[in-house]
Order: sequence, then C-alpha cells, then structure tokens
Amino acid sequence: MTTESVKSSRPARDNDSRSNFRGPYVPSPEDMYKCVHCGFCLQVCPTYLETGLEAESPRGRIALMKAVEEGRAEITESIVGHWDKCLQCRACEVVCPSGVPYGRLMEATRANVELVFRRGFKERQARNLGFHSVLPNAGRLDRIGGFFRFYQKSGLQTFARKTRAVKLAPGGSLEKYLPKLSDKFFVTSGQVMRPEGEIRARVALLGGCVMRLTHASTMEAVTRVLVRNGVEVYVPEGQGCCGALNAHAGERDTARDMARKNIDAFLEVETDAIIVAAAGCGSTMKEYDDLLANDPEYAEKAAEVAERTKDIHEFLADLPFEPPTGNLARDGRNLKVTYQDSCHLGHAQRITEPPRRLLNAIPGIEFVEMEESMVCCGSAGSYSLIEQEMSLRLGRRKTANVVSSGAEVVATANPGCVIQMEQALARAGEGAKVSYVIDLLDESYRLGDEPHTG
Ligand code: SF4
Ligand code: SF4
Repeated sequence: MTTESVKSSRPARDNDSRSNFRGPYVPSPEDMYKCVHCGFCLQVCPTYLETGLEAESPRGRIALMKAVEEGRAEITESIVGHWDKCLQCRACEVVCPSGVPYGRLMEATRANVELVFRRGFKERQARNLGFHSVLPNAGRLDRIGGFFRFYQKSGLQTFARKTRAVKLAPGGSLEKYLPKLSDKFFVTSGQVMRPEGEIRARVALLGGCVMRLTHASTMEAVTRVLVRNGVEVYVPEGQGCCGALNAHAGERDTARDMARKNIDAFLEVETDAIIVAAAGCGSTMKEYDDLLANDPEYAEKAAEVAERTKDIHEFLADLPFEPPTGNLARDGRNLKVTYQDSCHLGHAQRITEPPRRLLNAIPGIEFVEMEESMVCCGSAGSYSLIEQEMSLRLGRRKTANVVSSGAEVVATANPGCVIQMEQALARAGEGAKVSYVIDLLDESYRLGDEPHTG
C-alpha cells in the first residue's frame, strides 16, 4: 500500500515516522507546517467567534494535526470532535498570510480519521447510508425524495408532527430539518434548451443532488436566464451528485467515484463551460484536479472539467449578461435585498462581486450589505444534521444580522444556505424571505418581457 500525502510534493513518509496519521490518505505535513501561529484567522472563524476556544479555531485545529503528525497525540474522540466542529467554510484560508490550504488539509485529515478512527454504531450506519448508498446513486436519491415529497404533500407530515408520532420513527429527531421538496424534481435527461437568436455560448449544466430535489424551480430559472442571454444549455444524462458532501466528510474514495462519473458525463460533449448553480458543488468540481491527481486515467480529464467549471454568477458577469428591465419594487417601494456570501462561493471560489453586480442591476431592488455576510450561516452540507448545536447558534447569528440590515429578502447562492436561513428565520419568527440571486434575476427578466398594456 502506498501512502498518498494529499497534494504534497514531499515523498511518502519514512517507515520510522512517529506520525499517528496512517493509511493511504494522510494530510500533507508541508501544508500544516505552513502555519506560523499568527492568529490572523481567529476572528473570521465562525466556531471561534462563537466559543472563543483555541481548539475551535483554525490555528488550534492545525496544532492538533501537528501533535498527531509528531506522535505526541493519538487520534482520539476529543481531537476528532474539534476537527468535526470545523464547518470547512474556508474563511481562514482567505485571510491566512502564510497561504495554509486549510480546506485541503481538513479534507485529508478527515479522510484519515475515517480510516483509523472508529465512530459510534449509529454514526457509522448513518454515514454508510448517506455517503455510500444514497448520494452516489441518483435513482435511489430520487426514490427517497419521492417518498418524502409524498409524506409532505399528503398531509402525513402534519399528522405525524401533531401526534408526535414522528418522534418514534428512527431518525425522527432529524425530521424537523427536512427541507420542503419541489413538486416536480429537476431532471437530467440529456435535454437541450436553445435560444431563439444568435448563440453566444454552449454550456452543460450540473443538476446536482439536493438542489434538483429541493429547488427544481430555481434550476428551471437557471436554464431560462441562460437561454435569455443567448446560451444553449445541455443537461447531460448520467451525471449525479458532484461528491462535495463526501469529500468534505472524509469519504474520499466515494467522492472520487462520483467525480469520475460526472467527468464522463460532462466530457461527452464539447461545451464552452460547465455551469454550476450551487456554490458547494462548483467549488468541488473546480477541485476535481486535486481529487483525481493520482488517477492516471482521469487526472487529465479531471483537470479539464475543473478548468471548464464556472459558477452561474461568475459566468453571467463575464458573458456579460443582458441588463434585466422588470421592476421588482413592491407597492411602489423598492425591495430591500441583502446578500449572504455562501462560503464555497465567497471563500473557496473567491467570487463575491458577480452576485452583487447581478442584484444591483435589477430595477426596483435597493441593495443593502449586512454585517458578517461572509460568516458561515451554519449549513455546511451535512454539518447542520451532525453538529446541530453549533449549526443552530450560527443560524441565530445570521438571522440577527439579516434582521438588523432591514432587508426584506436575503439572497444567496447555495441550496444549503437557502434551507438553513429559511429554517433559522422561521424559528426566530422573522418575516424576511430567502431567495437565490438567480430567482430574482429571472423574475426581473420575465416581468420585463411581459407585453405592456395600456
Ligand atoms: S492565519 Fe494562517 S498562519 Fe496564521 S494561525 Fe491562522 S492558519 Fe496559521
Ligand atoms: S474552515 Fe471555517 S470553521 Fe473551519 S477552521 Fe476555518 S474558518 Fe473555522
């Protein structure tokens, strides 16, 4: 068995290494020793902001990695707990003067944890179901989504909640986090949507996993907006979940299998770009080259997909997009909108200006910035289910910032953020609505295209 020091140019470690990281995936010592303990990252780290604890900061988590690497500590439950609390929001990476690639370090650390650390029975079962059985299998995901859609629409959910029967079901405590499922899921069947006039670009579109089931109407809006801007949209069949949730959870082998499947689907046809509407998926696909760097068959193809992948806001801003003309003012008053930076757009992809440019271009919107727009809302993929307490705290923090901005709508760019903020605002009894930037843009285009009467 060879040891893969993830993205390290150093050779695999010597046999006499004292490191307690063992197995085929180990975090790169080169990456972790870039940290010079300056502490610049502390004040941007959501878990440090909430707790004030060094062990819940980027610097503290790296110190724990070094302790394991140097053989001063074993991978214990307590150490894994501090690593698990990390949202992988990558805010620390943006401000780090030493260029510590924190996302890569934590992904590799988690991959090692999954190899050498034995989690509890329930957690192992849940991970097995989610990461190995459901996410990699689009058909199974659709069937489960279909079951829960029936549960929500048939009145069963209301009944189960009223009678508290839900509490008796296995995993019932998580039922309250179930997002509202779309009436019709977005399908990825090889369909092509063509603009009427000149074709400015040809793109392939990722349907993803969660967003396809929870925000199918936004996926339709994405295709409308692209076509409206002269872009031909192809939705490859055979694509599936991008593997982001698996990669972040340390499930590196399944993440790679999922990446390979998407690479095959997306490279079947020559396109100018692969468009992704969910920030978390976009950042993972842009890093497929890292994920498959040691795969002789796929490394080159992975680099091509990574290169071609574009976030929808980034793509529209570069195109450039046609200015929308429909006015979104309500009752003669501008609609006050703020923007929440999804971590995997703002931090991982460093895309902060394009979504704001789109919002500012929409007539009838008064754009206001909110405090801490770059601090994670607490969603972070499966984090909101696994680390519920911290996720709820961050949801409350985000809600307070939305409310104090005075915005009626908070716009964002990732399904996890939409779901998390909707649930957090509802729990707080606040009336602000959550919307994708693309939905607001689509609404403005459609209003502007309506025939004027009178
Ligand atoms: S900012 Fe970078 S170098 Fe400084 S403590 Fe944080 S991770 Fe280490
Ligand atoms: S990724 Fe986010 S939560 Fe994790 S250490 Fe960095 S700033 Fe903190």
